[in-house]
Amino acid sequence: MSLALVPPPRRVLLPASITRTPPPLGAHVHEFSGRTMGTTWNVRLVDGPRVDRKRVLRAIEGALGDVVEQMSTWEPDSDLCRFNRAAAGTWQSLPESFGQVLACALDVAARSDGAFDPTAGALVDAWGFGPPARRGVPGADALAQARERAGWRRLSIAPGRGVALQPGGLALDLSAIAKGFGVDLVARRLAALGIESHLVEIGGELRGSGVKPDGQPWWVALEEPGTAATSTLVALHGLAVATSGDYRRWFEHDGTRYSHTIDPRDGLPIRHGLASVTVIHAECMQADAWSTALGVLGLDAGLALADRLDLAARFVQRTGGGFEERTSAAFDRLTQ
Ligand code: ADP
Ligand code: MG
Repeated sequence: MSLALVPPPRRVLLPASITRTPPPLGAHVHEFSGRTMGTTWNVRLVDGPRVDRKRVLRAIEGALGDVVEQMSTWEPDSDLCRFNRAAAGTWQSLPESFGQVLACALDVAARSDGAFDPTAGALVDAWGFGPPARRGVPGADALAQARERAGWRRLSIAPGRGVALQPGGLALDLSAIAKGFGVDLVARRLAALGIESHLVEIGGELRGSGVKPDGQPWWVALEEPGTAATSTLVALHGLAVATSGDYRRWFEHDGTRYSHTIDPRDGLPIRHGLASVTVIHAECMQADAWSTALGVLGLDAGLALADRLDLAARFVQRTGGGFEERTSAAFDRLTQ
């Protein structure tokens, strides 16, 4: 399906399933927000008028803290940074969440044939998008060195996921999947508190569950690059949505725009004119990783893979005069 985005059509994605659990009597929508992982988070949830805000906040911040403590490239004491510094040939223990995310990341790497690569840390740093903050085009030598250090096939994790082998100089970077996992973890911790109806967001990645006091699911508008207009509304009822876009983080050098998403296969920032890729999935971790993977593959290869794997994906491509939207068959089915 292909259509021009101007003027924006109004469309609606129906929830995959609707449960008829009525909202609790006297229920309210409560809102919480803060900062994490270099961006903002926001949680809306349904509870009685006298929600224990401290208890809820502790659960949310505990989940976010776990993700940062284990998987941040920006916290030198994180388990991930410890792995990156470890000596060649040593097995490193992974806390549970880190192990889960790494296993999923390797799965997406294999299925996308390396378009998504959780070991691209040295390349990300070479292009100045990592903690050693610098912007600019790396020299040929620096780039060649970074490419040698990267490569998901160099990484081995034990079947129980509890340990991974540092082959030497391998730099993990889970930034394209950890936010999504954080959304899932917050959602699970809220459910564990008995809060079944919630909408969790970190840096634009979202997951919704249950219904609001008015019986409606959580409706969210998909981001439209280059315009404040919105054309697609999604009911996040047991679904998550993540968007990867080159209009958010990039730098410009000699008139060229460099995306913070790197194609690990040639070591260069992606440059095929995709403005954004949105993926809808039951798990935000998967949606987050796949939006980056499909973005690296580009419109044609990305759409073909999304259809082969039955992923619900929406691509917005820059054209001469504006933007063009393309959607996978699974995405179209959701809009029925
Ligand atoms: P977006 O919302 O644009 O997908 P994310 O924050 O989810 O952005 O992911 C981008 C980050 O992922 C980069 O800043 C970098 O740290 C890392 N990254 C870049 N390219 C890749 C890639 N090909 N595979 C996995 N991670 C990548
Ligand atoms: Mg992402």
